[in-house]
Amino acid sequence: MRIGIVGAGLAGLTAGRLLAQNGHEVIVLEKSRGYGGRLATRYFGDNKQIKLDHGSPLVAPDQADFAAFIDELTAKNILKPWTDSFSFYNEEGMFDEHPSREKKMVYMAPNGMNKIGEYMSRWVDVRLNTKVSGITMVAPGARKKRPWILNMANISVLETDALIIALPAVQAAGLLQTAQDETPVRSLHMKVSAVQYDPGFTLMAGFGAHETPDWKGIACQHPVLGFISNESSKRDNKELTLVVHANKSFSTGHRNTDKDLVRREMITALGQVLGDWAAMPEWSDIHFWRYAFPSRNIDAPFLESTQQQAPLAIIGDYFQGNSMQAAYVSGKKLAEHWLTQFANR
Ligand SMILES: Cc1cc2nc3c(=O)[nH]c(=O)nc-3n(C[C@H](O)[C@H](O)[C@H](O)COP(=O)(O)OP(=O)(O)OC[C@H]3O[C@@H](n4cnc5c(N)ncnc54)[C@H](O)[C@@H]3O)c2cc1C
Repeated sequence: MRIGIVGAGLAGLTAGRLLAQNGHEVIVLEKSRGYGGRLATRYFGDNKQIKLDHGSPLVAPDQADFAAFIDELTAKNILKPWTDSFSFYNEEGMFDEHPSREKKMVYMAPNGMNKIGEYMSRWVDVRLNTKVSGITMVAPGARKKRPWILNMANISVLETDALIIALPAVQAAGLLQTAQDETPVRSLHMKVSAVQYDPGFTLMAGFGAHETPDWKGIACQHPVLGFISNESSKRDNKELTLVVHANKSFSTGHRNTDKDLVRREMITALGQVLGDWAAMPEWSDIHFWRYAFPSRNIDAPFLESTQQQAPLAIIGDYFQGNSMQAAYVSGKKLAEHWLTQFANR
């Protein structure tokens, strides 16, 4: 089968890899210029020598399939064990360890989290800078050979035998709506559109020759901040670099605030947590994630249409979770299911 996958995040690439390894023709369409979606790394410095993970900062496996995938990435030097505990900050001050969280190894990407998407893209044909703006299901019996037509924003089209939508739920719902006339699609649309996302602000900052602290990350109970990642503990960035994630309530409350104002508020907050030096970065930038974390999920590993002649499935991190692990498991389970279901196609 020729399978079109919309979205080159972890869910889409995981499904795509397994289906391609088993003989299907897989084409992944990705609107941005890089692979991996929210496994994202931003480059700074004259020679782009500074790498900062401004999406997911770490990986924490606790499911067998996902743990095996982490082992695979670790064997390829894409991931490395990072730490088994983070520092903790609340109104009483800074603590070396979280008072209630049990110790558990988490992993980081020494060359950037975007290397995971790059690695996973080796098995499939990924078309970057290609936004899918609409989908059409061809009526059975029509002259077209394949049942799905994907319409790109650049007005090109792709015809496929099967379609997988691997986007944050809100974007998936938007795409499904473009094919709303079809009854099986409409029922999927109803389920997916019930899922909302919390936004997230991420501050990236450099502090020149300032001494690198000995903590890897700080979980914060603070009116503005949620987590501070010491990126210089992951790789030699040639200067002290931090990535700072705002907490859910601050990000939600400021989703319509001017980004530069948010950047300055987050820098002030960083100074409150780490000391005056941290309120004076040499440079900084801010990123707004409109769809950072699903605020509720769907209690199934994936959704699929009942229409056998035009296979359609929805996958992503909002199936039974809200993290990289959920995205991976969703993509893998769908691919395994389709390999059985469409063994002869
Ligand atoms: C700030 C932040 C911190 C996080 N921290 C953690 C953490 O510590 N641990 C953890 O496990 N998880 C964390 N996560 C969550 C984790 O990154 C996600 O759960 C996971 O990466 C989601 O993968 P996905 O494939 O479902 O979706 P995505 O990664 O969102 O992939 C979807 C892809 O679809 C593309 N796309 C969108 N619309 C279109 C279109 N119309 N046409 C073509 N392509 C399109 C997007 O560009 C994107 O590449 C964090 C996320 C953020 C944002």
